[in-house]
Amino acid sequence: MTDAAPDREAVVDLGAVRRNVETLRATIGTEHTIAVVKANAYGHGAVPVARAALAGGADRLGVADVSEALELREADIAAPLLAWLHGARPDFTRTVEANVELGISTLDQLDAAIDAAKSTGRVAVVHLKLDTGLSRNGLSADAWPTATRAARAAETAGLVRVAGVFSHLSGTSPDADTAQADALDRGLADAARAGLDPEFVHLAASGAALTLPGTRYNTVRLGISIYGLSPFSDREPAEFGLTPAMTLRSRVVATRSIPDGQGVSYGHTYRASGDTNLALVPVGYADGLPRQASGAAEVWIGGARRPVAGRVAMDQIVVDVDGTPASVGDEVVLFGDPATGVPSAEDWARAAGTIGYDIVTRLGSRVRRTYVGE
Ligand SMILES: *Cc1c(COP(=O)(O)O)cnc(C)c1O
Repeated sequence: MTDAAPDREAVVDLGAVRRNVETLRATIGTEHTIAVVKANAYGHGAVPVARAALAGGADRLGVADVSEALELREADIAAPLLAWLHGARPDFTRTVEANVELGISTLDQLDAAIDAAKSTGRVAVVHLKLDTGLSRNGLSADAWPTATRAARAAETAGLVRVAGVFSHLSGTSPDADTAQADALDRGLADAARAGLDPEFVHLAASGAALTLPGTRYNTVRLGISIYGLSPFSDREPAEFGLTPAMTLRSRVVATRSIPDGQGVSYGHTYRASGDTNLALVPVGYADGLPRQASGAAEVWIGGARRPVAGRVAMDQIVVDVDGTPASVGDEVVLFGDPATGVPSAEDWARAAGTIGYDIVTRLGSRVRRTYVGE
């Protein structure tokens, strides 16, 4: 980026990540904690966040893709690391060589893990995933007895180690989640009958880990909560002692005054009610601001929350600063920690009809990440 390019910055407080993990571990109390750093750590930056989460007491890391796992290994992160979403007909050779543990959701994936063990001469460490009702990824209950027996045979042959058994919840209701835990219990009994003795049993992500103790087993997989956002759209992170780690900030690049009735931005969906002042902020939907939040979101300028005037454009928004003094170069906070008065990522999510996860994860490539609190 040159000095002339606009300032678009996501400041990530790694101290907040570390403290969030400490707080979560104290609340949840499981023996093991998998910090989920998929999708570039929900937009926060996988490598620095992984280090901060480990410093906060997470003992394992989780990602979706093996490519995400290999990036962490290339950054010399040696912690136990699980990847659980694979392409069609995967080749796990590099993954097993890099000592990355594999979530196994099909018999083909189990075969691929065995092949990788044979070709590398290393034991493939796997976590068998049972579909307990989400109907997304995981072995079906029908395939489970066959899979557990095949995994045990490969274990006996010294090719595989079944380190874990896991599943994922739908979060539909406490009753539905509890029924999934019951299905996992049945799957664990099958696994024991097949001769497996998994060290890690995990079902709960942030939401259930915080609110349904019966889903915790000995390991939880925590994503959104380590970033200081709430897994629930109707509960604030502060209720759980969590602090948002990301602040999206920019600077005013132009100001103008407009008369009563003047329309603003595409389609003139906003009209000034009275003479007013506008500030131009160079962050748009290409940078991750949801266009659906047009006309509903607020940003922080000059010590106050001010409304976004009209449509969010690709590269910029216009803010009605009215009586608030705003000058070129003034700092703008799009979202951050609401305890400081600024809008939260959840506020943007509500304005756009989505969830906080979607707001932080979608930041575009023009947004520079910087780190504080290391
Ligand atoms: C993303 C993901 C998680 C983390 O979920 P949060 O709600 O962000 O805590 C856990 N497990 C699986 C399988 C996931 O895909």
